[in-house]
Amino acid sequence: MSKKYCYLFTEGNAGMRELLGGKGANLAEMTNIGLPVPQGFTITTEACTQYYVDGKRINDEIMAEIMEYVTKMEEINGKKFGDLQNPLLVSVRSGARASMPGMMDTILNLGLNDDVVAAMIAANPTPEFERFVYDSYRRFIQMFSDVVMEVGKKYFEQLIDKMKAERGVTFDVELTAADLKELAQQFKAEYKAKIGEEFPSDPKVQLNEAIKAVFRSWDNPRANVYRRDNDIPYSWGTAVNVMPMVFGNLNDNSGTGVAFTRNPATGEKKLFGEFLTNAQGEDVVAGVRTPMPISEMAEKFPEAFAQFEQICKNLEEHYRDMQDMEFTVENAKLYMLQCRNGKRTPAAALAIATDLVDEGMIDEKKAVMMIEPRSLDTLLHPQFDGEALKKAQAIGKGLGASPGAASGKVVFSAEDAKEWAERGEKVVLVRLETSPEDIEGMKAAQGILTVRGGMTSHAAVVARGMGKCCVSGCGEMKMDEENKRFELAGKTYKEGDWISIDGSTGNIYDGAIQTVDASVSGDFARVMGWADKYRRLGVRTNADNPHDTAQAVKFGAEGIGLCRTEHMFFNEDRIPAIREMICADTLEQREKALAKLEPMQQSDFEGMYTALAGRPMTVRLLDPPLHEFVPTEEADIELLARDMGKSVEEIKNIISALHEFNPMMGHRGCRLAVTYPEIAAMQTRAIIKAALNVNAKHPEWNIVPEIMVPLVGEARELKYVKDIIVKTADEIIASVRSDMKYKVGTMIEIPRAALTADEIGKEADFFSFGTNDLTQMTFGFSRDDAGKFLGAYYDKKIYESDPFARLDQNGVGKLVEMAATLGRKANPRIHLGICGEHGGDPASVEFCHKVGLDYVSCSPYRVPIARLAAAQAAIKNEK
Ligand code: ADP
Ligand code: MG
Ligand code: MG
Repeated sequence: MSKKYCYLFTEGNAGMRELLGGKGANLAEMTNIGLPVPQGFTITTEACTQYYVDGKRINDEIMAEIMEYVTKMEEINGKKFGDLQNPLLVSVRSGARASMPGMMDTILNLGLNDDVVAAMIAANPTPEFERFVYDSYRRFIQMFSDVVMEVGKKYFEQLIDKMKAERGVTFDVELTAADLKELAQQFKAEYKAKIGEEFPSDPKVQLNEAIKAVFRSWDNPRANVYRRDNDIPYSWGTAVNVMPMVFGNLNDNSGTGVAFTRNPATGEKKLFGEFLTNAQGEDVVAGVRTPMPISEMAEKFPEAFAQFEQICKNLEEHYRDMQDMEFTVENAKLYMLQCRNGKRTPAAALAIATDLVDEGMIDEKKAVMMIEPRSLDTLLHPQFDGEALKKAQAIGKGLGASPGAASGKVVFSAEDAKEWAERGEKVVLVRLETSPEDIEGMKAAQGILTVRGGMTSHAAVVARGMGKCCVSGCGEMKMDEENKRFELAGKTYKEGDWISIDGSTGNIYDGAIQTVDASVSGDFARVMGWADKYRRLGVRTNADNPHDTAQAVKFGAEGIGLCRTEHMFFNEDRIPAIREMICADTLEQREKALAKLEPMQQSDFEGMYTALAGRPMTVRLLDPPLHEFVPTEEADIELLARDMGKSVEEIKNIISALHEFNPMMGHRGCRLAVTYPEIAAMQTRAIIKAALNVNAKHPEWNIVPEIMVPLVGEARELKYVKDIIVKTADEIIASVRSDMKYKVGTMIEIPRAALTADEIGKEADFFSFGTNDLTQMTFGFSRDDAGKFLGAYYDKKIYESDPFARLDQNGVGKLVEMAATLGRKANPRIHLGICGEHGGDPASVEFCHKVGLDYVSCSPYRVPIARLAAAQAAIKNEK
């Protein structure tokens, strides 16, 4: 049997969103519950997919079905397309599964042509009606042309403005029937001039073109970008709704409006909306006239308003959620044109969810499901003042790499950032890209802006960890770091000039914009409490200093899943010792340098164990290639040479010997411990001693240190390093007659480790999936360079999202799942977690839940997101 591509509103329901799109499914649902909806039909999303399969044409079978439904619609409404007695006019509206701004605009009043217009006026030759007919006609030509010409809106607006100026009037409503008639003719001429063909007068041709335009708009660049930002698959397609017009522009006894059942900004339980008399469709949103608040509608149309209030109540009770509605009043009679769960601010979302629970409308699980995890981000960071932001003009755009808002004076180096901040200045650190040496400066800055780098670049990862606002990868900036200036939007910015950046949108603004501190409301805590009740996955954090740890604990982290020890080495007082270690010639010299580092590391760990108050911590041994630590500046090299009693030449030779063609695949991770076991031994001592010391003060914490070996690809490699750890740890523990336990585990971040997890699992107490490296090594492209070509992959639909931001479940995920299974088989008590950036991505969290990992670990500011996402995963996958 062939597929059904069209559904009357009476044939659908709210559950058919995938097939009918959100708008279509809800029009059907409103029809089912007896609300006044003009009766039309929906062309399915499958018809859209088929349109693309057929090489962007509507095939004969589908076209025939559409025409059959046009006839049905004509019969139901007692009107006909192009009929001179009783013409049918329709709207053609797109509607995907998820609401998608960026797609095509709706076409209203389709079905009009010169003959129909003349016949309509002849049947009711009053000036008011004539005006209405021409108003509808010019709107139709304008919208239709805009869609066919894609970006033609402005030409028509210019013509309207010209007409208004000539007539000396301010508002569209002041134009007369004759004016509008003339405008309609001008619009048609404009269409012909731009397209080279007559404006189509056959309503069925108009309809055909309009439907194709909706299908086409699914693939326009704006829609593609929006989909990528919002995880909407290209394969979904959009539905098309064709329905009879009702006329809010018929006369002064008519109008149109939009309303929310509750306030979408605050969540307050009070009807919120706007209404405009003698107007059509988007006049309300477009701001051609100032609409009146919905409450005034009560005076103007008491009966319609009373009915509307009742409908709002019914809809909320029906959908059990705040509704966003579009409606029209034609000659005092109310029609419903759209409803959907209303978009709302994160604060409003929390307020509404908790209110609905208190009203007995929904249960806690439903409330947890109602909150978009990623939206919590904005509640945790400072924000731009809304009013101030409206007045600001964006001068450029990068990636919104770490949310929050920052305003400050431009500085070009980490040192300057620190220095300026110390004397009380607010600064934004602007760099080509950041490196680990910049950490102090990043901390001191209000925010970070980089020319290069993606969502997982150093700047992005570190900034997210700090909860610091960051915009990365703004390629349009012309950077001149040396002379401390850059060019953007035709202006040169020098050190000390004010800029503002928005780490959520990636927008960059000229000048200072007021920011306000974020507050965590009571509703927020309540919803998080429910989330914790229903989740199974643990949530840990990635942190490497006591301050971030304390912050993460406040956000609900249950431990540290990844402590990157190297971050501690970049502090000013430590870097000389690590450089000394790297440049040492003999084991003795190396051990001397390591001995300097040991107490510092130990005290760091003590601080963190204290901040954790008994929660577990996984510490990773030194991971990055050593060249990341060596000095690049001449002065620093000289200093190091003097400290070490070597010549500058010798130091430079050591540094160049560290050069690698492919550092990410070079001498790093456990390979460092294999060549320099003394490093692993020193770090083990620091960890174990710190745990012993803190535990002595708080025996009730029962600290069990977890030591993690990075970059393992072979069981014997892990065994070798583990033996060093065990020998060192046991000695210390025995020497103080303690019975403290500890665990040794490994990262799974090299494909070979995943493939041989059955062997590696025998040597490991835990696995932690390092999905950043695992993604990079599985795809075979580096996360620092992928930004250069991934754009082309998105455009060509080879990849739909950044695999570094969203776990590639088909490929990398398969490795994770396999390694988890193999690891458990080898060691049934093995503990499994993930510590890549994916740990804070909701879709990836759901994947981790499904494959049965024990916990996810993410940066502190993502902890609440992961908690909520973990609860949603558990609720979604119940049964
Ligand atoms: P969007 O998704 O951009 O809101 P819509 O398809 O909802 O686009 O339509 C845009 C405007 O046109 C809305 O105000 C809607 O209420 C109005 N509209 C759509 N269809 C009709 C119709 N059949 N009669 C009257 N107004 C309509
Ligand atoms: Mg709408
Ligand atoms: Mg790694």
